[in-house]
Amino acid sequence: AERAKLAHSRGPGKTADGHPVKLLLNIGSAADLAPEAEGVGLFRTELLFLDRRTAPGFDEQVAAYAAVFKAVPDAIVRTLDAGTDKPLPFLELPVEPNPALGIRGLRVDRLRPDVLDTQLAAITEAARATGAEPAVMAPMVSTRQEATRFAERARAAGVRRVGVMIEVPAAALLAEAILAEVDFLSIGTNDLGQYTFAADRQHPALADLLDPWQPALLRLVETCAAAGLAAGKPVGVCGEAASDPRLAPVLVGLGVTSLSMSAVCVPAVREALAGHTLEECRAGARTALQRDHATIRP
Ligand code: PEP
Ligand code: MG
Repeated sequence: AERAKLAHSRGPGKTADGHPVKLLLNIGSAADLAPEAEGVGLFRTELLFLDRRTAPGFDEQVAAYAAVFKAVPDAIVRTLDAGTDKPLPFLELPVEPNPALGIRGLRVDRLRPDVLDTQLAAITEAARATGAEPAVMAPMVSTRQEATRFAERARAAGVRRVGVMIEVPAAALLAEAILAEVDFLSIGTNDLGQYTFAADRQHPALADLLDPWQPALLRLVETCAAAGLAAGKPVGVCGEAASDPRLAPVLVGLGVTSLSMSAVCVPAVREALAGHTLEECRAGARTALQRDHATIRP
């Protein structure tokens, strides 16, 4: 048993019956890379530039991205995600009364298209310089049209794998249509929970609403995963939900194909998946969907 456990402590993620589930890393820079995982599922590029008053230049961005691509050529890079919890002063965005519902994520492109153009050019230059083939995805997409336009921009810049994050219920509901425009989806359960329950993700008194076991949230995950299975395209989870060893098998049972998390969480999730067959994961998913509450009660 000890030897079997050791065999599971590294290597690709899979269920007890061998169904593969990619275990990926959430990183903010090359410093967060770790050998535990199979790749990078979420490179939060805004963390490189938090609190900066001046815009990151092209060369600076190329260097930062190349440092990651050298180690992980197929990393999934997320374009800048400015938000309430992640201020990027160099964008000089107008002050808003309701910033979580305002100009954030991909919406910044409405005011500052130059920012995305520079970033996409820096990503493709870093990929060329390192021989890498990264994927690029946009945060806070809410319509099919936004996905289409982002995919056009990214492909025109030379990106070959384009995805979008599902963080807004409207996008989850249209997962099938959005997936027709892009190569993969990545579900950001932190924001998807916030927007599904109209509950500030940083509000300590609303933890029960933000619990990723909420059946309404899991239904949206199921909608996205089903669209992915139908289209034969990957649908991952990169929010905190992916790193809960009890929830991870449920997410797999709902049909998600990868789980992305910080390095310290990977071993426990790998072990949890190895302890359940795919059919058991599906049974767990059915049970979780049918509950009328999450694990935390107010
Ligand atoms: C999310 O919203 O779940 C996510 C992964 O993005 P972030 O936490 O960076 O907003
Ligand atoms: Mg998010």
